[in-house]
Parts: sequence; C-alpha cells; structure tokens
Amino acid sequence: MASNDDRDQKIKNIVIVGGGTAGWMTAAALSHVLSLKKCRIQLIESDQIGTIGVGEATIPTIHKYNQILGIDENDFIKYTQGTFKLGIQFVNWGDVGSSYVHPFGGYGMSVGYLGFHHYWQRYHTQNPEADPGDYSIGVQGALKYKFMPPAQIPNSPLAQISYAYHFDATLYAKYLKVFAEERGVERIEGEVVKVSLRESDGYVDSITLKNGTSIQGDLFIDCTGFRALLIEQALNTGYEDWSHWLPCDSAVTVPSKNMGPSPSFTRSTAHAAGWQWRIPLQHRTGNGHVYCSKYMSDDAAKKILLDNIEGEVLTEPKVVRFKTGMRRKFWNKNCVAIGLSSGFLEPLESTSIHLIQSSISKLLAFFPHASFDQVDIDKYNEILADEIVSIRDFIILHYKITQRTDSEFWNYCRHMEVPINLQRKIALYKSSGRLFRDNNELFDDVSWFAVMQGQGLKAEKYHPLVDEIEDEKFFQLMGEIKAVIARSADAMPAHDEYIAKHCAAEAKG
Ligand SMILES: Cc1cc2nc3c(=O)[nH]c(=O)nc-3n(C[C@H](O)[C@H](O)[C@H](O)COP(=O)(O)OP(=O)(O)OC[C@H]3O[C@@H](n4cnc5c(N)ncnc54)[C@H](O)[C@@H]3O)c2cc1C
Repeated sequence: MASNDDRDQKIKNIVIVGGGTAGWMTAAALSHVLSLKKCRIQLIESDQIGTIGVGEATIPTIHKYNQILGIDENDFIKYTQGTFKLGIQFVNWGDVGSSYVHPFGGYGMSVGYLGFHHYWQRYHTQNPEADPGDYSIGVQGALKYKFMPPAQIPNSPLAQISYAYHFDATLYAKYLKVFAEERGVERIEGEVVKVSLRESDGYVDSITLKNGTSIQGDLFIDCTGFRALLIEQALNTGYEDWSHWLPCDSAVTVPSKNMGPSPSFTRSTAHAAGWQWRIPLQHRTGNGHVYCSKYMSDDAAKKILLDNIEGEVLTEPKVVRFKTGMRRKFWNKNCVAIGLSSGFLEPLESTSIHLIQSSISKLLAFFPHASFDQVDIDKYNEILADEIVSIRDFIILHYKITQRTDSEFWNYCRHMEVPINLQRKIALYKSSGRLFRDNNELFDDVSWFAVMQGQGLKAEKYHPLVDEIEDEKFFQLMGEIKAVIARSADAMPAHDEYIAKHCAAEAKG
C-alpha cells in the first residue's frame, strides 16, 4: 500500500534541455501523463543554436504515440505538411539497377500454416522471375502512388494496409510544442552554459543559462541532440562506436520543389559510398545524401545529390556529421538522454523518431521515485540497448548483403565481419529460408524477408512443410492472391487525391 513517504518521494521538478523533436515529444507525452499541478516541467531551448532540422520519415509505430496523446491524424498531417508512407523503395542496393520495396504490413494472404515467405520460397524455386512485391498491398499501393488507411473489410488485402507518415520536422516540433504548452509545460528560451553536479553523488543539481539564470530539477532529460550536453559533456557517460559496421558518417541535405504526383513511399537510392533519400511532403521534397567521408569528399557527395534531384533546389545544401553508435548508458544518475543525445543510427529505416518514442514509453514504465533506484535504471538501460542493437543489425544487413562490386565502399561492406546475431540470422535464412524474431525486436520476419529477398540473398532450401499443399492447389492459390492484390491496389485512391480530400495543408510553399 502507498504510504505518505511514497508520496514525498515523488519527482516534482522535471527539466528537459532541448526543444527539437526529442524535447517536444518528451514534453508532450509527460504533460499528458503527469498532473502538472504536482510536478513542474520546464523545457529549455535555444533559438540561437536551433535544431538539426531533419528527421521527416517515420514507421507505423508512430500511431501509438499519436493515439496516446489523442492527436487527430488529419489535423496533424495538415499542420505538418505531411504525406503518407506505405514503405521504403530501395534502388541500387542489391546491385546497380535493382529495386525493391520494403513494405509496412505483410505479404500475401493466408496460404497455409506457415508464414507467407516460406510459400514464396517454393514458388520462387519454380518461378525465378516472380516478384514478391506482387503479393504485397503495401508494395503495389506504393508503386501506383496510391494511399488509403486500412479498410474494415474482412479477408481483404485492403484491411492489411499499414502506414506511417512523412512530415516537416520543424513543424512537427512546433505542433507538439503547442500541445505541451497548452498542458502547462513552461518553455524557457536560453542557452545552457553550465551544468552543475552535486558534490555528494555526482547527480545533476542545476543548469545555468547564459543570462545567469540557474534552474534546478529532480529529473533532467537531455534532448540536446549530438551535443549531449548533460549525459556526455557533464556526466562523461561514454559512447559505443559502431562506425566499423555502419561507416557512413556524413549527410548533405537540401529541400527541393515537388515534381509530379507525390509518392506514398520514401525512396532510398544507393550511390558509390552511401545512399540518397527522397521524402515527399505537401510543400516540398526532402532530399539527403548519407555518405562515408573516408570514401567520398563533401563536394563529390553534394554533386551526386544535386545531380539526382528532379525539382529545383530551394536552399544551399547543408552538411551534417555524425558518429553511429549508442551512449553506454541512456539513463545515468538523474539524467535520461532521449533523441540524438542517446546515440545515432543512420536514417535508412527511419527509426530515430521511433526510438525517441520507445525511450519515452520506457521512461514512463520505469518512471523514478526521487530516490532513483538503480535496479530501475539498469533495466531501462538494458532493454533499450537490446532494442537499439537489434535495429542496428537490421540496418547493417542492407550493407552486408549487397552484391555491388563497383566501389571500395561496397567492397568494404560486403567483406566486413558483422555482429554474431546477424551472422546467425543470415546463415539461418540461407540454409532454409527461416526467420525468427528475437525478443522484443522491432522488425519482424516480413521486414527481414523484404530486405534479404529484395537484395538477392538466396535460401538454399525451403521449409519442408510447404509441400503439404499440392501443386495444383498451391499455384492456383498463388495466382489468385496476386490477382486480388492487384485489383485491391487499383481500387485505392491516388495518394494526392486522398490528401486533397482529407488533410490538405492550407498554404503550400
Ligand atoms: C541526416 C539525418 C537524417 C535523419 N532522418 C531521419 C528520418 O528520416 N527519420 C527519423 O526518424 N529520424 C531521422 N533522423 C534523426 C532525427 O533527426 C532526430 O532523431 C530528431 O530530429 C531528434 O533530434 P533531437 O531533438 O535529439 O536533436 P536536435 O533537433 O538537434 O535538437 C537539439 C535541441 O537542443 C537544443 N540545445 C542544444 N544545446 C543547447 C544549449 N547549450 N542550450 C540550450 N539548448 C540547447 C537545441 O537548440 C535544440 O532545440 C535523421 C538524422 C540525421 C542526422
């Protein structure tokens, strides 16, 4: 039973440092869950420093965050100049000239007891030219520039649609700022110039702004981006560097004017030493080239980016540097790092905003007493690290299984030794087409299959139980599934039409 002592032990003062996507997502979620009559939340951000201004593609888990906050989808899309995303198209990844889509949602429809990818292996053995994308409503909808949310039609592929969003990162932070301030979060403009630690235990005691104001707190949340002002500069937590597995360390970004109908997918095109994204928004297209500075100069990277953009560019290209890896602890003493301050995985599978959301939900699950029990902190760090490592492995997979031999960069990636869990997953798939989701891994067998098959990794044998269905019935079923998926995709509205009807932003441009 709760005692008065328990109530006295409550956190009463939370200080969030940083007002980018991470800071405002955290502020919005905490202000929704906590009573701000009992607990004060202050967020400090500096207009002088600004935000990183990228981070515009998401994955479907974002629905959970929006639902918890009660965010209306159409309102949110209008405000953020957003569009819809059915998956990611990967061009030139398996080899130059190749292309596949990693869709959200599943493949096929129910064929038998096993997952669809097993039946696909059997089908593929006899039909080497067949494309698994023909069996996915996400892929077909994306390739036809279509979009609709899942329909409530039992047994229809339209019920299997799964989607995420593209949005303007700056507008997204603003949207959440309005939400959080309406609920009582206090925003303080200013640059933090000093972080003071308590002598007794090294916990963060206060931060000092340039104008001399000192702000004290019980719990500090470091959302200062790559600066990692509290978690690293003050607490020296340490960083695990993964750049030997994910060697890209730079990105050059530039927005451009929209050209033609807007795609309902993100595009990732591999180049000689990295890859380029294209993210469609209502008022512009976001573009960026992620590359490895060891194999490509900034100027060469900029040129490749600009040469591969369809519309007129709207600003000067901007270079961003990063080091792939994770903080050794995300929660250290009374400081929790959320967002880029906690680590970075390149945006190939659009997972950073998901990780912000995941950090917030874990922080709520392990929300501390003022005593900060170490067992809670340790568990938080352990489960978040597991999740990040599994996402890391999935991203490394894209590089490792390339067949490209046209540059030193791809030769390095093909030959590099990858983490043991990834080695095992590749070996298992190669041997029998089997895939298993470990623990709380974010990406399921559909995603692993999409990338492995899409990049030409071949399974030597298929699952013996798929032969339980007789040939005639099996091939007829596969034909029917393909046809019903094609018809369903045709029946979807055009992506632009859907936006115009439900959530067109008021002013474009
Ligand atoms: C090239 C690139 C592409 C990306 N693409 C995607 C994507 O498509 N999808 C995705 O999910 N993620 C993506 N990300 C990641 C995404 O950008 C971040 O996860 C997200 O924007 C969160 O950033 P942040 O809030 O942690 O940091 P920032 O946006 O950098 O915000 C830091 C905040 O801290 C404040 N601050 C810093 N120092 C001080 C100080 N001394 N005093 C006061 N305030 C301070 C700044 O003013 C700012 O408000 C991408 C990242 C990069 C680098």
